[in-house]
Amino acid sequence: MKPWIVLCAGLKDNAPSPAFFRKFAKENIMKNLRSSARKNLKQHANANLNNQPKKTGPLPARFFAARCIALSIFFPTLYLESISALTPDLLGRLGVRGLILDVDNTLATHDNPIPDSRVLRWLDAMRGANIGMIILSNNRPGRVEAFARMLGMGFVANAKKPLISGFMRAAAELGLPKNEIAVVGDQIFTDVLGGNRWGAKTILVKPIEPEETRFFRLKRFMERDILKAYGRSKK
Ligand SMILES: [Mg+2]
Repeated sequence: MKPWIVLCAGLKDNAPSPAFFRKFAKENIMKNLRSSARKNLKQHANANLNNQPKKTGPLPARFFAARCIALSIFFPTLYLESISALTPDLLGRLGVRGLILDVDNTLATHDNPIPDSRVLRWLDAMRGANIGMIILSNNRPGRVEAFARMLGMGFVANAKKPLISGFMRAAAELGLPKNEIAVVGDQIFTDVLGGNRWGAKTILVKPIEPEETRFFRLKRFMERDILKAYGRSKK
């Protein structure tokens, strides 16, 4: 039974006017409306709370860490502007006594038989610091042999990097254990990947000149993404 009917029953002898009923009903209606409005607001607030997007802070960090672990096989120990930036002091700090060197776009441009004067000076500085060096290249024996002989260095041609057999042959010729050797080259998918798989330190240098072929452009495009992750992982 509605409360205002009970109230009116109690006031039988002093019956309220119709205006009283209207006022009483209006107040009750307003009260009900206010109450249901409050309820609705509460429900909306709860719904909003439940629908709030989950905190996104830790997720990208976890995702980035997992990505770095997956990509770390492609990360070099050092990434340098050019081979000239590699100093005997830097090698000393890494505990490196021998270098396995790539040829094309590391020591000289593709198919260039002579390195430029800066590279020749760098080779002299390395010899002066008693750093053992050998050339390891995927290029054909004709090209690699002529280049290595001109510099008076040993070589392994047609090395099939990133397979590790070539690295093992080069290390045997150097007479050094792999933990004292650094692999130096301009390509992530051959020099760095091979050196990392083998277990040596790896030094990536920027290519001397950009390549024009589609194959190389695709490789450089894929390398860019890895280098971005590498750069972020070092921050
Ligand atoms: Mg190269």
